[in-house]
Formats: sequence, C-alpha cells, structure tokens
Amino acid sequence: MLLNQSSLNATKTIDLSTFAGSDGDSNFFPKHLAREDNIKFLARLSDAFNASPRLVLAIGGRVEFINQLPVGYASFLRPEVYEDGQRVDRFVYGHPSGLSFASLVAFAEHVLMIMKKEVKDCACVNCQGAPVPAPRFSAGFHELE
Ligand SMILES: [Zn+2]
Repeated sequence: MLLNQSSLNATKTIDLSTFAGSDGDSNFFPKHLAREDNIKFLARLSDAFNASPRLVLAIGGRVEFINQLPVGYASFLRPEVYEDGQRVDRFVYGHPSGLSFASLVAFAEHVLMIMKKEVKDCACVNCQGAPVPAPRFSAGFHELE
C-alpha cells in the first residue's frame, strides 16, 4: 500500500468492536474487579498507539479509538500495594491465554493484529508468552481395548 504524507497526517476514527477478527474472550474477565471507563481507556490506548511510529505506519495514520474495545476485551482497575503505598493499576483482560495486559503498548500491538486480521501471527508479549493450553480432561480414563 502506498502512503502519502496527507494520509499519514489524517486521524482515523476506529471502533475496535467492529473488527470480526478479535480473539478476546470475556470468560477471562475477573469477577471481583471494577471496569475502567471505556472512553478513558480508549483515549489512553489511542495515545499509546500514536506514540509508536511503527504502529502508526502499519495502520497508515494516527488513530482515535472510539466506542468499544475489541470484542471480548475490557480494562479493569486492580488495586496494588507498593512500598510507597497503594495505588490502582489498570489491566486489560480477555486474552485467550488468560494473561492480562499490564502494558498499553503491548495491548496496542495485539490490537494492530486484530485490525489486520492477523492475530494468529501476533508477536505481543501475551501471544508469545502464552503457555501451551493444558489438554482438557475427557470424561474418564479408558483402558485400551
Ligand atoms: Zn498478541
């Protein structure tokens, strides 16, 4: 795809929930944590995305994420205790590995692959660090017949 400077300067308004290729799974949402407001989260995610020249180039311009996260993903508020006190950190849940994203930059990488419909080839930390899923137990053990 050829890109000219004007297309790179234009901001694309994107609703991530409209992309069919999301691998998010709301079964991994924590039940005891409060959700972060979507609009605030999407503003932070847009900033993280636009701060990466590589991501901006990959999608062909700056982005303004609106409305919703990719289907099956949500940001949650998680209180953490540090040496200098307690604060609330924010984590994105829904990755099929069950891992949460602590980093907006890492999640932005994953979002890029959802938008490109190439999430199976994603190189983000959670896709690369995902443990091999344990085999599901069958109904029982059967002797070889
Ligand atoms: Zn990924």
